[in-house]
Amino acid sequence: MAGRVLRRAAKAAAAGFLHYSGARKAMAAYRRSQSGGRRILIVSYHRVVSDFTGELQRSIPGLLISQETFRRHLEQAHAAGFELASLGDAVDVMAGRRAAKKDLFVVTFDDGYRDVYRYAYPVLKQMGVPAITYLPTAFINTDKRFNHDRLFHLLRRVQERRFRPDYATMPGPSVELLGPILTGQKTTSAALDDFIGEHPTRVLTGIIDALEQQLGGGADLLPEQGDVMNWDEVRQMARDGFEFGAHTLGHTVLTLEPTAVVEKEILESKQTIEREVGVQVKDFAYCNGWYSDEMIRVLSQNGFRSGVTTEDLPNRVGGDPFTLKRKVMWENFSLGMMGDYSSSLTVCQFDDCFGVLGMSHPVLGRRPHVLSQATGTTNVLVQEAAAAEAVLARATPVEVVDVTAPVIVTDPRVAAAVTGAQVVVAPNVALAPEAAKPEELQ
Ligand SMILES: [Zn+2]
Repeated sequence: MAGRVLRRAAKAAAAGFLHYSGARKAMAAYRRSQSGGRRILIVSYHRVVSDFTGELQRSIPGLLISQETFRRHLEQAHAAGFELASLGDAVDVMAGRRAAKKDLFVVTFDDGYRDVYRYAYPVLKQMGVPAITYLPTAFINTDKRFNHDRLFHLLRRVQERRFRPDYATMPGPSVELLGPILTGQKTTSAALDDFIGEHPTRVLTGIIDALEQQLGGGADLLPEQGDVMNWDEVRQMARDGFEFGAHTLGHTVLTLEPTAVVEKEILESKQTIEREVGVQVKDFAYCNGWYSDEMIRVLSQNGFRSGVTTEDLPNRVGGDPFTLKRKVMWENFSLGMMGDYSSSLTVCQFDDCFGVLGMSHPVLGRRPHVLSQATGTTNVLVQEAAAAEAVLARATPVEVVDVTAPVIVTDPRVAAAVTGAQVVVAPNVALAPEAAKPEELQ
């Protein structure tokens, strides 16, 4: 907690200095020349809420931004000289098909939360700002909640009730998720972030089912918040010119799934939106920000023009439209030393001052399709494990480590807490999923 407050104070102080000294503008100019003449900043939001403080008591913090802060972001981006552009325009500028008079700022929403319809859509419409929303179509028009929201809610119940889970009746990796939370080593949201990136959907649903049963069932085990849009709401936004992209059927991290599932989730989510809304869908968002060459192949061969990641890096004119970089935003990225809205901090985030200074730690989303070719871990090259272990043991949490072949090793940081836990390590993969997320979350 003290560390978090200190970090926030340091960033706020740095932002003030950078802003008023003119260093921020110099950094923006540096990024602009690096990007090929124009900056293309794509920002990612999840839920835009009316009562941030109240929602913070029951929801994953990193998904939340208040309507007021969201509005200020748009106003500030405009004031800072950005053109608030559509994703399609940004893709055209990157491809050299369109010239941009200004730097571009593109608003994106992941997951299709109803909050976006309720609280972001009116602001966008009033201000004339374009945006794209990525929909996991199996959730639209249903009362279902996302696995991440359900697990977060259940884990809170487990903690409130001081419940000791019976691991014997749960999927094997459960202890990797619950262990660090129950021993206070990680916050619920940090543990959840780490875990969801490492385990396929069937493990998540297995844990949800087991915990619901062990906690005795009941309506209070399902989160009230986190509802998604219905098709009428989507159609209404589409009529006002807002774009929609695909985000799989079941919000599935596709790097953890076999090829047949990758194709089905990508193609059917595109077709469903096209059928329900009557628009062409050409854009995709990778769940958890993770993508593979295999997924890019499926997208490019099936009428898609872009894929967005959560890699917090600059986009470049001439860059790959299937690995678009995005800055994931939430409320606390704009909070200054006293916990109030800081415009200098916000504009420093937009200008990527902390990235230029090396104060942020982007994690790459490209993953091998390791588990897709095998059931479980049968084709793992274990002979590489010893070498990778040695590299891992020396690695700091923000290091990117190259190993020559996909291997499964025992991650020393996980192993310290959990005997027998396994992680996948592969070429050019960032090894610390926890570093991928805003540090304030930890
Ligand atoms: Zn998502």
